[in-house]
Parts: sequence; C-alpha cells; structure tokens
Amino acid sequence: MTAFPLLTSPLDLGCLTLPNRVVMGSMHTGLEDRPGNFDRLAAYYAERARNGVGLIVTGGYAPNRQGWLLPFAASLRTTRQADQHRPLVDAVHAEGGRIALQILHAGRYGYHPFAVSASSDRSPITPFRPRALTTAGVRRHIDDFVRCAELSRAAGYDGVEVMGSEGYFVNQFLAERTNRRTDEWGGSFANRMRVPVEIVAGIRRAVGSDFVVLYRLSVLDLVEGGQSWDEVVTLAQAVEAAGATIINTGIGWHEARVPTIVTSVPRAAFAHLAGRLREHVSVPVVASNRINTPEVAEELLATGQADLVSLARPLLADPAWLAKAAQGRPDEINTCIACNQACLDHVFRHREVSCLVNPRAGHETELVLRPADRPRRIAVVGAGPAGLSCATALAGRGHSVTLFEAAAEIGGQFTLARRVPGKAEYAETIRYYGRQLALLGVDVRVNMTAKPADLAGFDDVVVATGVLPRAPGIPGIDHPMVLSYVDVLEGKPVGARVAVLGAGGIGYDVCEFLTHDDNVGWSDEWGVADPAVARAGLVTERATRTPVRTVHLLRRTPGRMGTTLGKTTGWVHRETLRRNGVRLMPGVRYLGVDDRGLRIARDGVEELLAVDNVVVCAGQEPNRGLVGPLRDAGLSVHVIGGADVAAELDAKRAIDQGTRLAARL
Ligand code: FAD
Ligand code: NAP
Ligand code: SF4
Repeated sequence: MTAFPLLTSPLDLGCLTLPNRVVMGSMHTGLEDRPGNFDRLAAYYAERARNGVGLIVTGGYAPNRQGWLLPFAASLRTTRQADQHRPLVDAVHAEGGRIALQILHAGRYGYHPFAVSASSDRSPITPFRPRALTTAGVRRHIDDFVRCAELSRAAGYDGVEVMGSEGYFVNQFLAERTNRRTDEWGGSFANRMRVPVEIVAGIRRAVGSDFVVLYRLSVLDLVEGGQSWDEVVTLAQAVEAAGATIINTGIGWHEARVPTIVTSVPRAAFAHLAGRLREHVSVPVVASNRINTPEVAEELLATGQADLVSLARPLLADPAWLAKAAQGRPDEINTCIACNQACLDHVFRHREVSCLVNPRAGHETELVLRPADRPRRIAVVGAGPAGLSCATALAGRGHSVTLFEAAAEIGGQFTLARRVPGKAEYAETIRYYGRQLALLGVDVRVNMTAKPADLAGFDDVVVATGVLPRAPGIPGIDHPMVLSYVDVLEGKPVGARVAVLGAGGIGYDVCEFLTHDDNVGWSDEWGVADPAVARAGLVTERATRTPVRTVHLLRRTPGRMGTTLGKTTGWVHRETLRRNGVRLMPGVRYLGVDDRGLRIARDGVEELLAVDNVVVCAGQEPNRGLVGPLRDAGLSVHVIGGADVAAELDAKRAIDQGTRLAARL
C-alpha cells in the first residue's frame, strides 16, 4: 500500500495507459526556441521521465509563423523540424516516459508584427496590433494546427495538447471580449467555439484513434467579456465529441488582473472547477494551478475533483517529486514555493528558465553534482539559503560537512520571509533542507556563532554568513519608535500609524505584513466569484474596507515605485498595497525622527508624518567579518550569498551560488 494510492494508480486512456495521475504541465523553458538546445531539453525531460511522471507535455510550439510567441520562437511546421524532435522524444521513451507536444498559437499575444487574431484589437499586455484573419484565413490556421499534430506524430510523440487557455489564439475566438466577427467564426457561441472544435476534430481525423489529444480548456477566464460557465461546459462537451482524450484545465488569461499562480494564491484554489466540469464530461479531467504537494494532489483525486493533476513548476523544483511521493518520502520533496523568480519571470524577460530552489533545472547537462574525487572536511558557516544549498550539495557529493548556525534554527532570512502574509510556502524550503541535512549526515550546530578558532582544521571554509540590515544615518535613528524589519517580522508590537523607510522587496513585504486583514478571504480580496453566477468568475462591484493600519511607504529615489519587484509578481504586490491604502511617497529626504514622528522633505517642502513607529527596510550590507581573519590564518575560504555581495541579493542568487560552489569543490 503506497502513501498516495490514487496518485500512483494507473489510468487507461484506451490508446495508452498512464502509470499514475501526474501530468507535467506545459512550461516554456526557452530551450524550445533553438534546436541547438534540444540535447539540454532532452536531458531535462528525461530526468522527469526517469522519475516516473505519467505524461509530459512540452512547452508550446506554434503551428505557423503568425502563431509565434516571439520572432523565431519555437514552432513545428516542417518535416525537417519534426526530425529534430526525434532525439528528444527518444530520450523520454528510453526512460519509460510518455510525452505530448503542446500546440500553442499566441494570437494577439504574439510579440511580433505578424500577429493575427479573431479581431484586430490589441491586447493590454502586448504592443503589436493583430491582423484580423479572413474567413478563409481561419480555415488555413485550423489546417496548420492539424498539420502540427501530424508532424508531432511523425516525430514519435505520444500525443498533442491544444492550448485553449490563458487567453491565446483559441480563447480569442471563444470570448466576446476579443471576437467581434460577423462571419461563421463569430457571433453566437456555436460559431465562436467552432475554431477549437474543428481543430480537435481535424487532429483526430488526421492522427487516428491511437494518439492522445489533450485539450487545455479555460474554466475561468477572469477577464470581462470572458466565457460564461454554460459556455465552458458546452465547449467541453463539444471537444470531447470531437475526439479529445483528456481535458486539461487552465485558469485566467494572461491579461487578467487576478493572480492565478503566485505564492499568495491558496493551494489548489481553482481545482473545484475541474471537479464541477467532470460532472458534465466522460473523458478524464486534469486539475491545475498551485498543486505542489502529494497530499493536496491525493485529496483532489479522493474527493472527485479531478482524474489527474497537472504539475508544472513543482517538477522544475524537484524532478523526483513523483518518485519520492510513490516511495512514501513526501517530506524529501523540494517543494515549489510559487515565487516565479527563476521560471515565469525569466520567460517574460526572454531568458532561459530554471528554478530558485533547484538551479539544476534546465541546466542538467552542465550543473552536475558528481561524487567527489577526494572527500574533504568542509565547514559551512551560516544556514541561510546559500549555506544550506552548499552544505547539502557538498554532502551529497561525499564530503564531510559541518554546518554552523548562530540562530536557534536553520533558514536564515527565509525564517522571516515565511511570516509575510501569502509567503507561508517559504517554510517548505527550510523543511526540505532540514530533511536533507539529516539524511546526508551533515553535522549541524545551531545556536553557535562560529569564530575563527572553531574553523581551524577544516580543509575548506565556506562563509555564508549573509547580511546585516543597513542602519541609515538619519538623526534620531536610535529613537525607541524606530524598528527594523527583523523586529517587526519577529513580532515586536507596532502602532496604528507607521512609516516604512525603503521600498524594495522587503519594504513591500513589511507593508503587506502591517496591513494584512485576516478577516478577508483570498477570493473576496481579489473579487473572484463562482463563474456560474458571475461571467468569467469576476465580481464587478467590490466593497471598500477600512485599512487595518495607516502606512506610508517612502524612499529617496523619485519616480514610480515597485518597479524592481518580480516581473510576474510585482503587480500583485503593488495592487495589494493600493487596496490596503498604503500611501506611496517616492523622492523624499529624511530629516529626522523624534517623539512627534518622522520629519521629511519633498520637493523642498518639509512635512511631519505623525507616526507611532518608523520601520527601517533600507537594504543590507554584507556580513563578512570572518573572511579576513580566516584568510590571514591561511585557510581555504570561499564566500557566497549575501556575505559575498549584498546588493540585489535574492535567494535565487544565493542558492545558485551555493550549489555551483559545491559542484566545484
Ligand atoms: P541569510 O539568509 O542572511 O543567512 C545567513 C545566515 O548566517 C543566518 O542564518 C545567520 O544567522 C548566519 N550567521 C551569520 N554569522 C554567523 C556565524 N558567525 N556563525 C554561524 N552562523 C552565522 N529573496 C527572494 O529571492 N525572494 C523573496 O521572496 C524574498 N523574500 C524575502 C522576504 C523577507 C522578509 C526577507 C527578510 C528576505 C527575503 N528575501 C527574498 C531575501 C532572501 O531571504 C536572501 O536573499 C537570502 O536569505 C540570502 O541568503 P544567505 O544565505 O546569503 O543569507
Ligand atoms: P533593496 O531592494 O535594495 O531595497 C532597499 C531600499 O532601501 C530601497 O528602496 C532604497 O531606496 C532604500 N535605501 C537604500 N539605502 C538607503 C539608505 N542609506 N538610507 C535610506 N534608505 C536606503 O533591498 P531589500 O528591500 O532590503 O531587499 C533585499 C533583497 O531581498 C532584494 O534584493 C530582493 O531581491 C530580495 N527580496 C525579494 C522579494 C521578492 O518578492 N522577490 C521580497 C523581499 C526581498 P532609496 O535609496 O531610494 O531610498
Ligand atoms: Fe517554483 Fe519558484 Fe522554482 Fe518557479 S522558481 S519553479 S515558482 S520555486
């Protein structure tokens, strides 16, 4: 009996039997765009197949040039291109895996001048106005989808997925919002859904019955003028009748102003809609979005909310997710914390994808942790993300590792990050490393501030002592009303009126901490409704509420605030602060703190902010006092994370640097 009997149970699709209920959801890695990178892509997929993933879905490939996401982005249009896929498909099959190619036509989300769509309205998130297809042009695009599926079959794929969610080409035909046509492809819903139905029917006719056809269906558009629930159900039934083998679900268009996968979205927040759709179709339905642990996945299957679960980012974070679950070792999973920092933020900056908690993702061929030729005695000082990643990777290679941590527990600044509302997932990274340290036999010494004398005798010392909060030279900075972000997040009492100094990631997090209202649920906060009641799941009228505190967020630099936050997550933080009534004050000069509050000057005008507390979030300085004495003592010293460079440090750099150092030693 396994710990997750439903998750690990097979599913007979008729043409193929999946060994378990895990679909690796499509993720663009940036490696798809150049066939020269296909060996890396093959290694990336093969590692997931080796660890038992039921069915892998590739990143999106356009069926024609107009469907490109970017100029010269991934497409599958020719037999020559299909031949280039062969080694990749073979690598997955050699590991006993199964793989389907996703056909993704970007429509008006195409970042190039050849973009086409149902109508010629530009999307709010792309600069290019699409050309509205002619009636015959629509037919040609459907043929291109079919041809892409035939080429996929010729390349050896086990199936294809038609991308019909997230607001791409297919959605643009389905929704009144983007389809203003009056021909046979527009007007009534029967006409608007003709594109996806004909795509699926055409593919089924072309590829025969022994080929998997997944259809990714948007069950909640979250945009005005999106589909109603009745339309969602009608479409699902029509694509099933047209020959779809599986219905995968998607949530929200890219232009939606409701977060759908960031860390503050509750786990499995939308899975109930897959469950509801399941009542109307007989093909298997996949639940997706924020399913990151086997416990959550098993629960969804047990409560009839899905036949399969889609994991995308969780399989970047841990390629062995399924194997660990199947073997009853869920506590060993490196859990995706939904930060988007190395995956989606990279996609939207046109960079290759990796993972904050697993820098090997997408770098499987290059970042290899081989057994050490000559095991050494290595001390790692500091158990923040940098030290933890280094210590575990070193021990995994066979070195004898001692880890010193001054605090009572491991985790470094992640012990603070996990206290920010909506960032509870960060605790999973601490749990993961804690378990690995135990499994790998690392000698962990907490409550011990390492001094040079403690480190004599080690072959190498890794200094991962992190950062010290910066204390700005402002008159009155020693006043009792002044707190640091550490004080606040560790629970020191804070008054009703607050000035937060410094508007980087930590300043924003502290504002969320100070203004979060525990009485407002996530759906109410973002205006998400039952799609059977409100079209596309959007509440139109929202009640205003009284902020729990009056908070001013200040910085010296003028200009728009919040622009240094994550590409795909920054807007969520900016919107949260706006809704919580935080007053943004760029371009200020700090004059001093006294009993009355914080005195500032803006545009040459002095102002008193009558606050109860001033919270300093003014960045950090490297904490590297150990380095000089250790080097003077002739030790082999390596410096990583914040102790190395504090400016613009984040956990992505800290973990990457720790892992890469460990691979070299
Ligand atoms: P640290 O995490 O600072 O760890 C250093 C460790 O060394 C500490 O545990 C310290 O106690 C220990 N130490 C110091 N001196 C000694 C000694 N002599 N002996 C023994 N131990 C010692 N980053 C992101 O990427 N994404 C986020 O969303 C994010 N959110 C954040 C939210 C908050 C509220 C905070 C505070 C930080 C956040 N960060 C985030 C930043 C991220 O946590 C840091 O970049 C990261 O922790 C740096 O890792 P590090 O290992 O270099 O240092
Ligand atoms: P930060 O992003 O560098 O911001 C520091 C802030 O302090 C700036 O707004 C700066 O604004 C101000 N400042 C700098 N020097 C100052 C001085 N001498 N006096 C007064 N103000 C000063 O650093 P952070 O907010 O501390 O974050 C640290 C790192 O953690 C960041 O690099 C970030 O990547 C990471 N982090 C990420 C997230 C996330 O969600 N991805 C969340 C939290 C933290 P002015 O100079 O204009 O005043
Ligand atoms: Fe998950 Fe963050 Fe890794 Fe992306 S970068 S897979 S969101 S942990």
